[in-house]
Amino acid sequence: MDIAVARAWVRAIADVVDEQTDYLTQLDSAIGDADHGVNLRRGFAAVRTALAGLDAGSAGDIFVKTGATLVSSIGGASGPLYGSAFRAIGKALREGPGDDKQLLAALNDGLAAIQRLGAAVPGDKTIVDAYAPAVAAFERSLQDGGDLAAASSAAADAAEEGMRATTSMQARKGRASYLGARSVGHQDPGATSTALIFRALAGVVAAP
Ligand code: ADP
Ligand code: MG
Repeated sequence: MDIAVARAWVRAIADVVDEQTDYLTQLDSAIGDADHGVNLRRGFAAVRTALAGLDAGSAGDIFVKTGATLVSSIGGASGPLYGSAFRAIGKALREGPGDDKQLLAALNDGLAAIQRLGAAVPGDKTIVDAYAPAVAAFERSLQDGGDLAAASSAAADAAEEGMRATTSMQARKGRASYLGARSVGHQDPGATSTALIFRALAGVVAAP
C-alpha cells in the first residue's frame, strides 16, 4: 500500500459516507440515536481537510492522521473505534516492506484496536461483525495466491455478508444493547459502515 492508494482509499470512504449519510443515519434511528451517518460525515469531512494539509511520508502517516482526526472530530462511539483502528493500521504500515502481508497484519491490528477499546466479540451486533470476517477473508485470499485486488474484493464480500448477518442478532454492546430483544430485526449501522469501508478499498485497488 503506497501513499497514493492510501489517500485514494480514505477519499473513497469520505465520498461513500457523503452518499450514504442518510442511509446510515436511518439504520441508527431504528436501534440507536440517529446520528451514525452524520457522525461519520463530520469525521471524514475533517479528515479531508486534515489530509489536504498533510505532507505525508508514507501510507502509514495518512492512516495515523485519519485516525487521530476521527477520534477528535466524532462525538459518538464510532469516532474512537474507527479512529483507533486507523491509527493502529497506520502505525503498523509505517515500517516494513509495504507488501500485502503487511497490510493484512495492519488490518488485524485495526481490528485488535477496536476490540481492545470496545470489548465486542463476533455476534454482539457491532462493527466487529463485518470487520472480523473481512480480515479473515483477506487472509484466506492471500493464502490462495490472491493479489491485493482479489483479497480486498473477498474482504468486501465477507464484510457485506457479516453486515447482513447482524440483522438477526441481539445487540450486546453500544446504544443498541439498551433495546435488548427489540434490537433484533435491524441491520447494525456500524457493521454497515464497515462494509462500505472495505468496499471502498476494493474499488480503489480493483484491476482496471
Ligand atoms: P453512538 O452509538 O455513540 O451514537 P454511532 O451511532 O456513531 O455512535 O455508532 C454506532 C455504531 O457503533 C453501532 O452500530 C455499532 O456498530 C458500533 N459500536 C457501538 N459500540 C461498539 C463496541 N463496543 N464495539 C464495536 N462497535 C461498537
Ligand atoms: Mg448513534
